[in-house]
Amino acid sequence: MSEGQPAYRRVLLKLSGEAMRGELPYGIDFKRARSIAHELNEIHNLGVDIAIMIGGGNIFRGSQGVAEGMDRVTADHIGLLATVINGLALQDALEKEGLVTRLISAIEIKAVAEPFIRRRALRHLEKGRVVIFTAGLGSPYFTTDTAAVLRALEIKAEVILKATKVDGVYTADPMIDAGATRFESIKFLEVMQQELKVMDSTAISLCKDNNLPIIIFNLNQPGNIMKAVLGERVGTKIS
Ligand code: UDP
Repeated sequence: MSEGQPAYRRVLLKLSGEAMRGELPYGIDFKRARSIAHELNEIHNLGVDIAIMIGGGNIFRGSQGVAEGMDRVTADHIGLLATVINGLALQDALEKEGLVTRLISAIEIKAVAEPFIRRRALRHLEKGRVVIFTAGLGSPYFTTDTAAVLRALEIKAEVILKATKVDGVYTADPMIDAGATRFESIKFLEVMQQELKVMDSTAISLCKDNNLPIIIFNLNQPGNIMKAVLGERVGTKIS
């Protein structure tokens, strides 16, 4: 692992539910959660404040329920609860690494997670606790990507690190188009104009309006989160 200096003092890591699934067809791969936690511990040891927004797609997405004829709001509520389940698993993995954590939920679920109170979340970060945001924004019709951007702005994170299944932003879907090439960096406006599938449009425009950069990279390559934190070339940077 690199001995370099971090390029950021405070980051918000967006972990999709897929990241928690690892190689499994469904659910939570605890080995994967442990390896993510291990990398985050090394980053924390560099003195970087870490907040995480966790998704729920490995368990349930609102769109799945809607496709089956379910009411959108109810389906999204199920999706929100899925993110809380992932958050608990990640919290356990982080604590096994010796990190002090706080699980925060945007919907009230007192026995399990604390509510989001901005000043309290900031205090946790100042004290070196890893903050895990769950339940997105607590409202239907949003995604955890948009929630990641809003919370990143609120806690004054300097960057969003979005760990996904792909290596970054491509000219076209690399799974479909073999000729697709990856951007090393790209402007928000280009992402919007070319309708590149990076994050939902609400998330992208919130980043653009507030000048908050995003680095998108592949989570399946161990060491990539660290590389992004050290400012090394990894994935695609959108700014
Ligand atoms: N969700 C929501 N409001 C939010 C965040 C999430 O309703 O603020 C619901 C939505 O149904 C979504 C699900 O929670 O499909 C899981 O989140 P997401 O799809 O963003 O997870 P990811 O794709 O990152 O795994």
